[in-house]
Amino acid sequence: MMRFYRCFWQDNTGQILVRQFTEIEAQIKKGTCMPQPKNAMEIFQLLDKSNCRECGVKTCLAFAGAVFKGQRKLDECPKLDRETIERFSGEPEHQNIFKQNRDEYLKKLKNEIANLDLASAAKRVGAWFSGGKLTLKVLGKDFSVDTKGNLSSDIHIHPWVAIPFLNYVLYCKGLPVSGNWVSFRELKDRKERYPLFRRRCEEPMKRVADIYTNLFDDMVHILSGKQVEKQFESDISVVLHTLPKVPIMVCYWSPEDDFESSLNVFFDETADENLDIGSVFTLGVGLTQMFEKIALRHGFPEDVSSQ
Ligand code: SF4
Repeated sequence: MMRFYRCFWQDNTGQILVRQFTEIEAQIKKGTCMPQPKNAMEIFQLLDKSNCRECGVKTCLAFAGAVFKGQRKLDECPKLDRETIERFSGEPEHQNIFKQNRDEYLKKLKNEIANLDLASAAKRVGAWFSGGKLTLKVLGKDFSVDTKGNLSSDIHIHPWVAIPFLNYVLYCKGLPVSGNWVSFRELKDRKERYPLFRRRCEEPMKRVADIYTNLFDDMVHILSGKQVEKQFESDISVVLHTLPKVPIMVCYWSPEDDFESSLNVFFDETADENLDIGSVFTLGVGLTQMFEKIALRHGFPEDVSSQ
């Protein structure tokens, strides 16, 4: 369970990542840090799933989404036992530690940006430089950084975008996109990380795709993605331009006969040259979390409660 915490706050050497994991694990063991659901689906799994509406919300899934967003409290569901409520309602101490490390890491990256020649970096990373800002497209939207490391964008600046964006501007080698797609496990330094990537990115994204049929339309329309010719004999293939030289392709195989559905995320084979592997991981996981939120906002089909 705690493995989940390992990947978010690594720097290029991996130091922050490892230290953070040990710190949190120790707190959990001592009982001073409560486990926290990492997404609404985890909260949903705790619930009765009867959609009885006693909490005043139409469905258990909607209630889970509201709890995840902090709009409702777990103990507002009368069907949950006290032990579960206490277990998952503790102070999110580890989240504070996370935020602290994340903010420190962001600060460090911004300081490095202040020492960078943004005009020449723009040419290297497929961006443009104007008015003292480097700007590039993230999922079709403008995303900028100025010479002091300040970020600005048309979209909400979430750390799952900000950290890869800054690492990309700082360290992208500028290799052209090759058009050859590889899985996460085929990238450099991916050893040991793929099982976690599978668990944190591909499996939850597949669950969303299985029950939220508009997922791929939303990828195309909301995130300026592009449905492309079907790859690897998939039923749907969509390419998302997360960063100019780091496209991501999502392929989905529908369930058929005795075979379950399947979903894989692919990267251009140059991805690990243009972006550090921690940031590649963060982009994949961040996308999945965003899809979960979009799906919750727009509503899963009614029969989701039986899944
Ligand atoms: S969250 Fe609890 S109270 Fe609300 S609908 Fe589900 S089971 Fe009923």
